[in-house]
Amino acid sequence: MTTVALKDVTKIFPDGTVAVDNVSLDVADGEFMVLLGPSGCGKSTILRIVAGLEDPTAGAVLLNGELANDLPPRERGVAMVFQDYALYPHMSVGENIGFPLKLAGVEDVPRQERIADVASALGIGDVLPRRPHQLSGGQRQRVAMGRAIVRRPGLFLMDEPLSNLDSGLRAELRAEISSLTRELGVSTIYVTHDQAEALTMADRVAILRKGVLQDVGTPTEIYNRPATLYVAAFLGSPRMNLLEASVYVHLDRYITLNLGEQALYLPWNDYRARAVAHYHGERIVVGVRPEALTPVAPDTPGDVLTGRIQFLEHHGHETLAFLDVGATAIVLDDMAAAPETQSSNGRLRRLSGLMSRFTGRGKQEPSENGHRPSEPRSVLHDPQHRRRPAELAVRLAPYPQISPGQSLSIAVKIEALHFFDDRGFRIDVGWR
Ligand code: ATP
Repeated sequence: MTTVALKDVTKIFPDGTVAVDNVSLDVADGEFMVLLGPSGCGKSTILRIVAGLEDPTAGAVLLNGELANDLPPRERGVAMVFQDYALYPHMSVGENIGFPLKLAGVEDVPRQERIADVASALGIGDVLPRRPHQLSGGQRQRVAMGRAIVRRPGLFLMDEPLSNLDSGLRAELRAEISSLTRELGVSTIYVTHDQAEALTMADRVAILRKGVLQDVGTPTEIYNRPATLYVAAFLGSPRMNLLEASVYVHLDRYITLNLGEQALYLPWNDYRARAVAHYHGERIVVGVRPEALTPVAPDTPGDVLTGRIQFLEHHGHETLAFLDVGATAIVLDDMAAAPETQSSNGRLRRLSGLMSRFTGRGKQEPSENGHRPSEPRSVLHDPQHRRRPAELAVRLAPYPQISPGQSLSIAVKIEALHFFDDRGFRIDVGWR
């Protein structure tokens, strides 16, 4: 099946919009690659460039190792599936699925056989005579999938194919699409703004922000070791807590991470200590996911923070407590555009995100996989970025015997902390 390589691809539209900014990305044979990011980050433009529907302003597109910039769309061996299905309303389901074969001149009998095979694999064999308006949303999406796979393409390009469906059906089709593409062994580039979709379906995820590639990796890699503050803040539900910290090094002993009213201590034998020690006397961003915080009894020794509960959010299977520990949160305004899946009252949205306001140092070492997003300027200098008192999200058992205003102590898993510099880059690079 088809391999894809984008080399330094940039797309600038005639009105000056930089939709894709110097993106390099490889998709291996049979790989399921998800492009993830908020609306307007350039996902669809990349997909359209791969399909040949849009020319890159600069850079190269290679299909199976061959330069494909000038290859017409129909010679690329790709099949696209869109959010709005794009079915022909006057054709039956069978005719819709078989249309690409008809165009390719496939005879009637083998065509009908292929249509029946595909329809049965997708569980829509019984609706072949119907018209699209006589189908449910899920069935329509299956027809669109059927039309894409019937030609046995080397590459699937899917642009938010499930976003018109309700959440139950979306989860069901998510699993179906994943297993179908793997069964067929077809390389796939799948565009979504939904992190749950990306993390559950992808072999690897590429995260974009304003046309710039932020990180590429397996779902586990990008979740456990996000390359940038943006990725850290974008992934996770509830999102990662991001706190401002001042660094003080006590050589050969430990590093104090001063959070304001309280502090955490990074032992000198922690593998990240030397990298963090470079920031002695400066401020960095410390990230901690809610799963790295465990409620403990007051006065428990060790890495413990204590704070007052600001509010509680009940989610049935768990309750989230939001704790004021006297720290400052890092907030980046464009995270507001990112979808928030877990919070009904929007307060998590306020918690999440990044800021930065410290002085720029511009560390730009590439990580081991050679990837380093080319951030145009220090996010920390942007006057739009704001600081606010942190409300640390902590996971509790459902409906705990505790109320807002009460004090809560939490143990912090120091080995699960994340560190980012003033430009929003992970401090312990070279980790993958
Ligand atoms: P969405 O999830 O909303 O579809 P996206 O991440 O797919 O967003 P793109 O559609 O790739 O984003 O658009 C990237 C940027 O390029 C946006 O700012 C968009 O407004 C802009 N853009 C897209 N097409 C054009 C065009 N033909 N002319 C000018 N600007 C464009």
